[in-house]
Amino acid sequence: YKLEHFNIPQHYAEDVSSILIPHGLIIDRIEKLAKTIISQYSDRLVVCCVLKGGHQFFADLVNFLKSFTNSQGKNLPISLDFIRVSSYENDSSTGHVKISMSEKELRGLKGKDVLIVEDIIDTGRTMVSLLEYLKKFELKSLKVASLFIKRTPLSNGFIPDYVGFSVPDLFIVGYCLDYNDHFRDLNHVCAISPEGKIKYQNE
Ligand code: 5GP
Ligand code: MG
Ligand code: MG
Repeated sequence: YKLEHFNIPQHYAEDVSSILIPHGLIIDRIEKLAKTIISQYSDRLVVCCVLKGGHQFFADLVNFLKSFTNSQGKNLPISLDFIRVSSYENDSSTGHVKISMSEKELRGLKGKDVLIVEDIIDTGRTMVSLLEYLKKFELKSLKVASLFIKRTPLSNGFIPDYVGFSVPDLFIVGYCLDYNDHFRDLNHVCAISPEGKIKYQNE
C-alpha cells in the first residue's frame, strides 16, 4: 500500500518504507478470529496478554470476544491476565527469554481455559519457552492466538492455534509492535525503513 494514501504520524514519515497491513484490515481480521475462537469454548475463558507488543491485539480481540456467542449461542465470561515476556534487542532475538508474572497469579490459572495473546511469532522460541513454563501450572487448556506469524527459515516449527496474518521475513512495526519501544503509536503495520532503523537503534 502506498504511504501517501494513509495517515502516518508526522514523526514517523521518514521511518517506515511501506504499509504492509492497514489498520482497518487488521480490525476486520480480528473480528473474524474472535468469532472462530469463541465458537470453540464453552466456559469461562482467561485471555492472557503478552506485554507489551500484544496489547493492542488483545484489547481489540477481547472487545470482539465479548460481543460474540459460542456454538451454543452463549456469551462467555472472560477474565483478563497479563504477562511480560521480553527477548529482543534492536531487531534480533537475544535467545534469552525473560518471563514475569507473579507466582500467585500463575497458580490462579490452575484448571482454567487459557488463551495466550501474542503479537508475532518469529523463530517461535519465545512462545515455546512460555508454554513450557506455563505447563507446570496445570491449566485445563492452553492455546495461543498470534496476530502475525513470520515466514522465516529460522522457525522452530511452532504454529499458533489461531493466526491473523502470515507476514514476510521483514522486521515489522506498528499496531503496538515496536522497534526498541518506538512505533507502538502507529496504527498500520509497516516495514521499518533503513533511516528508521538507524534513528532508533540502541547502542
Ligand atoms: P521469537 O521468539 O518467535 O523469535 O520472537 C517473538 C517476539 O519477538 C515477538 O513476541 C515480538 O515481540 C518480537 N518480534 C519478532 N519479530 C518481530 C518483528 O518483525 N517486529 C517486531 N516489532 N517484533 C518482533
Ligand atoms: Mg511479543
Ligand atoms: Mg518488542
